[in-house]
Amino acid sequence: MCRHLAYVGPPVPLSRLLFDAPHGLSHQSWAPRDMRGGGTINADGFGLGWFPGPVVYRSARPLWTDPALPSLAGAVSSGAVLAAVRSATVGMPVTESAAAPFSDGSWLFSHNGKIAGWPDTVTALASRLPVRDLITLDAPTDSALLWALVRAHLRTGGSAASALSSVVSSVASAAPGSRLNLLLTDGRSIAATTYGHALSVSAAAGAALVASEPLDDDPGWRSVPDHSLLVADPSAVHISEGVFS
Ligand code: GLN
Repeated sequence: MCRHLAYVGPPVPLSRLLFDAPHGLSHQSWAPRDMRGGGTINADGFGLGWFPGPVVYRSARPLWTDPALPSLAGAVSSGAVLAAVRSATVGMPVTESAAAPFSDGSWLFSHNGKIAGWPDTVTALASRLPVRDLITLDAPTDSALLWALVRAHLRTGGSAASALSSVVSSVASAAPGSRLNLLLTDGRSIAATTYGHALSVSAAAGAALVASEPLDDDPGWRSVPDHSLLVADPSAVHISEGVFS
């Protein structure tokens, strides 16, 4: 289990998403409420990405132990953010480069979950990727491979939503039992899948916030049903339910 969030809307200080909200990402790193499929805390690194840029700041340490982060997060305001805290899947390395967000050009990506039977179940899918993508993976992890698969779709001109749904469908059929909550933004809109893990969305005042767990008790949070595809921008949230069998 990792926890991730993405925001698009009027600029807000990053500290609002991380520290100020009662159940912000910092709180979710050591006291998550909705763990599914194991894991207790998210102490194996964290990452923030924000626009314009995107600028990416990643670390292998627990979020709450970074002494520079509170002042950095208070000083930076952004209208588009993707952030994550990581609980490494057993057998996967704990390194800065294994923490989300993964990035390329204007894209930021995160994965909450795991590929079942890693790595053998997905060697055939991986073998269809350009060799260059495989030898330049950020880390030898399932999440980094998922990002390479998503990126390959984006490169062919596919939309964020079609890239995510096609990768979830193909990985789920190659590796049954996988958990594939994916999150992707280009700084204008957010695309996300639910496949085995929790996700909630809040949309108000020209902003959309998607997060593994609600950041506060506001009744405006909606839980996204499992096996859904979500697309959100500051003016609308669209949830397609039952997209993945
Ligand atoms: N399997 C991924 C990793 O190890 C994501 C882990 C998670 O969602 N807890 O990085």
